[in-house]
Amino acid sequence: MTTAVYTGSFDPITLGHLNLIKRASKVFDRVIVCIMYNKDKHPLFTMEERVRQVRTVTQRFPNVEVDSSDMLVAEYARMKGAGVVVRGLRAVSDYEKECQMALINKRLNPELETFFLPASEKYMYLSSSAVKELALFGADLSAFAPREIIGEIEAKFDGKGRK
Ligand code: ADP
Repeated sequence: MTTAVYTGSFDPITLGHLNLIKRASKVFDRVIVCIMYNKDKHPLFTMEERVRQVRTVTQRFPNVEVDSSDMLVAEYARMKGAGVVVRGLRAVSDYEKECQMALINKRLNPELETFFLPASEKYMYLSSSAVKELALFGADLSAFAPREIIGEIEAKFDGKGRK
């Protein structure tokens, strides 16, 4: 059985993330989406909110689990018995950072392979930051964020600024 971990901030989860999860769930027996505590000290959503949101939007995938961690990805994968870390590649701009992370993870855990999935054409330029920017201006988020969490994103903004 191949277990893959898909890590990120998911602040909030976008349709681009969800597309990647769906595709990974078809390739790997088990996919653990792990929300990582990170350098961003001011996330829009708390860890608990993000875990709940990701669980809600992935519940239709039976082999997908949701977790959170403050461990290094390489250590977390080892603990979970995962041999693969899945990452998404959008434009060229993701490439350098992602390669660096893959090499560091390999150094820390030689058993761990990084699998890159190219972003789907539709979501190539979609990021959590873009969703937040759009929400700030009161834009329609339906093409960018899972419908189950759009209300929650909008509720964080009053149309003029962050609440
Ligand atoms: P991080 O802070 O770790 O980059 P993100 O939540 O921004 O966390 O992204 C997690 C992973 O999802 C990264 O591998 C990123 O490249 C990928 N990703 C983000 N947005 C998209 C998208 N629109 N399409 C495909 N992959 C994406």
